[in-house]
Amino acid sequence: MIFLRINVLILFFVHTLPLAAQLRYYTDPLKTALSLSGNFGELRADHFHTGLDFRTQRKTGFPVYASAEGYVSRIVVSPTGFGRALYINHPNNTTTVYGHLLRFRSDIEDYVAEEQYRRRSFAVDLQLSPGRFTAARQEQIGLSGNSGSSGGPHLHYEIRDTPTQDALNPLHINNFNIPDHTSPRIRSVRFYPLDSLSHVEFMGTPLTRTPQAVGNLYSLPGGQVVKAWGRIGVALQSNDYFDNNGSPCGIFEASLAVDGTERFRYELSRVAFSLNRYLNSHIDYGEYAETGNRYVKMWLEPGNRIPLYTTDTMKGILAIDSGKIYRGEVRLKDVAGNQSVFRFQIAGFYREMPVPPSCSLPRFRHNAENRWSDEEFEIITPAGAFYDDFPFRYERSERTDGFFSAIHRVHRPAIPVHKAVTIRIKTAALPEQLRSKALVAEISREGLLSSAGGSWSEGWMQTTIRSFGSYSVALDTLPPVITPLSIKENALTEPSRIRFTITDDLAGIKEHTGLIDDQWVLFEYDPKNSLLFYRIDSKRLQTGKRHTLLLKVTDQVDNESVYRATFWK
Ligand SMILES: [Zn+2]
Repeated sequence: MIFLRINVLILFFVHTLPLAAQLRYYTDPLKTALSLSGNFGELRADHFHTGLDFRTQRKTGFPVYASAEGYVSRIVVSPTGFGRALYINHPNNTTTVYGHLLRFRSDIEDYVAEEQYRRRSFAVDLQLSPGRFTAARQEQIGLSGNSGSSGGPHLHYEIRDTPTQDALNPLHINNFNIPDHTSPRIRSVRFYPLDSLSHVEFMGTPLTRTPQAVGNLYSLPGGQVVKAWGRIGVALQSNDYFDNNGSPCGIFEASLAVDGTERFRYELSRVAFSLNRYLNSHIDYGEYAETGNRYVKMWLEPGNRIPLYTTDTMKGILAIDSGKIYRGEVRLKDVAGNQSVFRFQIAGFYREMPVPPSCSLPRFRHNAENRWSDEEFEIITPAGAFYDDFPFRYERSERTDGFFSAIHRVHRPAIPVHKAVTIRIKTAALPEQLRSKALVAEISREGLLSSAGGSWSEGWMQTTIRSFGSYSVALDTLPPVITPLSIKENALTEPSRIRFTITDDLAGIKEHTGLIDDQWVLFEYDPKNSLLFYRIDSKRLQTGKRHTLLLKVTDQVDNESVYRATFWK
């Protein structure tokens, strides 16, 4: 009898637990109030954001906790990416990732330093077996920071499927303490004629409108019915928000229905890193390249292979006939289930569009290799380099001062390049000793140069590129510039570290080596601040004497700078 009563009590208790508590396999990785500056699936440059960005009050140094029990399976230290990052494998076959850390737990920190000294490398990527470092649920594993390619102090947090390393949407599988009663907001909508026979409002170009909102229901201003004919696509510029902050975040789920039938849907619950660049097909990339605005297309391009979508046979493209009215609805959802709806009507009106001038340009196929060349330029693109077919455009202008080839305009930046494509550029006569200093430079609209690397052979420079634009051959003959910040006249001006800024004019920094008393020492590199620094390590450096310091920095074309000093410590 007593036994039965306990069972009843337990059942009662389990059923009255809030859903949140039942689903919490993962605890919050910070003990401060959680606030997101970014969420899973947010649209970023060339990728979907694969985790949660937790704010840390614009400061570094907050304790970071393992969100479930497990063992450290991987430790990365990198000047870019997640900077200092820990990966913890859990018994449920998931891995949590903690990025941009300032410091690791002290035993892990000691191990990493040992490995850095053993390999004589600041950057390390260490795979670990289960017994090496374990972490209990909620055990502190490090301090939050701003390391790697971080735009300000925060914790980047991921949950991955361990066998595939696919990133999972943390908010979709676990309830973190992040209040969310706020619906997605729609900022702008666009209607696209998708071929030369189609029109929107009798134009061959997209129609852009700012919708009106009544609560979470959006519609076109003035009750506009869009007149169109042919193959039409719809795209939205929208963001999701959480209750306690104003950061624009990404949409979890969106669907398009016409006359009550669903045509297209995507859901951002899982992303494979190898497919993450398909973001450039998910959005109207041309508009993004031109204005920085990201419109998500509610149709699928033929070359888009990321499996986020459920579509009809038309892949979300609307076929608009004359004399018919189409009632469309786009529904946006966040993970918490808050929704916004955009309703629109399209009226089919046939209009004969002007026949486009016959196109003599070579057609590049998205699903095949493409090659094009003339006497000064060659391009070879692998199958799958593009999301759709397009007429390839190439122009050339005369070489100008400072360049060692003609200026090659390789199509337009509006077409995204998915896989690296090879270009070859004929160079002007280059003296032999300068050939190793040549590189392919991309020239921005503002005329700024950035290196696309490459190597010289038989009068041609060859490299691979991942964006269209203007390219030419330039030289980098200047070595990196080393500027001491903590040493003056052979004396230290800071008590516990030695800092430098290092910069390069074009090719970019390739490597650095720091020696104290002829022994390799760990200089940490923070390229976003052009900083190179050594923390005085009293375990490894014998103090109470004068030391020699030598710092060597080389750029990508092997120009080298050397800095020498002595100091007392
Ligand atoms: Zn992040």
